[in-house]
Amino acid sequence: MFVYDVVVVGGGFGGLAAAARLAHAGRSVLLLEGSGEWGGCAGKFDRGGYRFAAGATVGMGFEDDGVFARLFDEIEEPLPQMRSLSTIMNVYMPDRTISYYQDSEAWIEEIVRKFPAEADCGIRFFREVWAAKPLINQVTRAEVIIPPKTVTDWFRIMKLATNGAWKFTNLLTATVADRMRAAGIKPGSALEAFINGQLMDSVQTTATCCPALLGYIALNVFHLGAFYVDGGLAEIGFALERSIRKNGGETLLRKQVTSIQKQGETWAVCTRRDEWFCAKQLVFNGSVHSLAEQFADTESVLFNKMMPIKASEEKHVPSWGAFTVYAAGDDPFVEDDGVCFHQFIVDPTKPFAEGNQFLCSFSSKDDLLRAPSGKRTMTVSTHTDWKQWWDHPDASSYETMKDEYGSRILQVLQGQWTGVSNMSEHRMYGTPITFEHYTKRAQGRVGGYIPTSWRSIFEGFSPKSNAEGFWLCGDTVFPGAGTLGVVMSGMTVSSRILNK
Ligand SMILES: Cc1cc2nc3c(=O)[nH]c(=O)nc-3n(C[C@H](O)[C@H](O)[C@H](O)COP(=O)(O)OP(=O)(O)OC[C@H]3O[C@@H](n4cnc5c(N)ncnc54)[C@H](O)[C@@H]3O)c2cc1C
Repeated sequence: MFVYDVVVVGGGFGGLAAAARLAHAGRSVLLLEGSGEWGGCAGKFDRGGYRFAAGATVGMGFEDDGVFARLFDEIEEPLPQMRSLSTIMNVYMPDRTISYYQDSEAWIEEIVRKFPAEADCGIRFFREVWAAKPLINQVTRAEVIIPPKTVTDWFRIMKLATNGAWKFTNLLTATVADRMRAAGIKPGSALEAFINGQLMDSVQTTATCCPALLGYIALNVFHLGAFYVDGGLAEIGFALERSIRKNGGETLLRKQVTSIQKQGETWAVCTRRDEWFCAKQLVFNGSVHSLAEQFADTESVLFNKMMPIKASEEKHVPSWGAFTVYAAGDDPFVEDDGVCFHQFIVDPTKPFAEGNQFLCSFSSKDDLLRAPSGKRTMTVSTHTDWKQWWDHPDASSYETMKDEYGSRILQVLQGQWTGVSNMSEHRMYGTPITFEHYTKRAQGRVGGYIPTSWRSIFEGFSPKSNAEGFWLCGDTVFPGAGTLGVVMSGMTVSSRILNK
C-alpha cells in the first residue's frame, strides 16, 4: 500500500490549511473529508438555486499580513474576491442600535454617540485593547504550541516573550471583565452587554469567564480587517482545496474515517466503506469531541494515550451547540445600506444564548453566487446547550422545540424588517443533531471549548498529541475557535511536520 507523507482527516478550514501548506511544500498529502462539502462549519450547502452558509459568515484575517493573507501568499494563490467592511455589523439592543465600525477612531466616535454615560471608560478600555495589537501580530506569527510539549515549544514561547510580549503578561492572569472594571466599565452596563455579544461570537463566552489575552485578540481582529467574501467563506475552502490538488495532493469527499490505527511506524485509517490509507504522519481535523466519541469504543486505548484526558471525561468539558435558521427568497430590504451582518441582543440581562443573542447574516444584494438577482439568503446562528437536543423522548417533541426556537428568532427579525417574512422560498432550522450529521462533530458540539476563567488559556488541548506523528488541528485545540484560530492551528501543525 502507498504510504503518504501525511493523511489529513477532515476538510474543515484547519485541515484544508494544513494540507494546502504541506502539498505546496512538496509532501505527498491525502485529504479525506467525511461529508459531501468542503469547509465544515465554514462551508456551505445548496438548495434550489441558493447557496447557504452552513455556519461561519464573517471573514477576518484577509488584510495585508493577516493570517489568511500570509497563508495564501505562501501557497501562491490569489485570495478569492471579497470586500472590506467599513461597518462590520449593526448590533441591536432593546434601547439602541449600534454600528460597529472597523476603523478604530470611527468606533470611538460611535461609543461616544451610543454609550454617552460610559464613553470615557469605554474609550479607555478599547485604547488598552488596541495597545495589544503588536502582540497579535507576534502571536499569530510565532506558531506557538500551548500547552507546550517539547523544548522547541518552550523555546518559541520564550522567544515570543523576549520579543516584547512580556509587556502584556498582565493579560495572562486576568479576565476581560477584570480589565473592563479597571477601565471603569460597570457590571450590567450597556457597554458590557455589547462587549459580551462580541466575545460570545468569537471566544464563545462573556467577559467574566474570558481570558483577557484571548478576548483582546478577538476584540482587535475586526479592527485589523473584517470582510464579506463573495460567495461566502466557502469560497476560501474551495480555493485551498484547489491549491492542494494543483500541488499534487489528493482530496476526497465522502470518506468518513471510522478507525485509526498505529501500524509499526505508520498511521492507518479506515473509512466507512472499508478503504484503508496509510501515512507517516496523521493530522486529525475532526474535533477532539469526535476523536473521543467516535473512536472511543475500539480505540479508547489510543485516545487515552494521545490526549491528556480520558475519552469518558471529554464530554464533560464545556462546549456549545448551535441552533441555526436558514431562509431564502425575496430581498427583505427596501433600501440597501450594504450591511450584511446583524447581531441581536434581545434582553441584555439574560444569558447570551438560546436565541437571546444571535448573529444574522444576509448574502449581499449583488452576490449572485449565493442568490439570484432580487433575492437573498440568510443564515442565523445562536449558541445552544447541545445536551437538551439529544434528550427528546420522541421525534415530535424535538420538532416542536425546533419550531419554537426558529419562530422566536424569526419573530425578532420580522420586528426589525417586515420583509423577512417574504424570505419564504426556503426555510430550514439546524440543531446540534443537524451539525453532527453534516459536520461529523460528535453531539453537534461546535466552536471549540468554552473558556471558564483566565486559566483556560493554559488548559486547552495542544495541536501536538502525546503519540508520535499524530497531530490535531481545528477549534478544539490551541488557539481555539473561529476560522482564524483553526487556520493558525493548521499552519502550526504543518510547520512542525515540515520542521520549520
Ligand atoms: C453557527 C456557526 C457560526 C460561526 N460563525 C463564524 C464566523 O462568522 N466567523 C468565523 O471566523 N468563525 C465562525 N464560526 C466558527 C468557525 O466556523 C469554526 O471554528 C471553524 O470553521 C471550525 O473549523 P475546523 O476546521 O476546526 O472544524 P470543522 O469546520 O468542523 O471541520 C471539520 C471537518 O472534518 C470533517 N470530519 C470530521 N470527522 C471526520 C472523520 N472521521 N472523517 C472524515 N472527515 C471528518 C467534517 O465533516 C468537517 O468538514 C462559526 C461556527 C458556527 C458553528
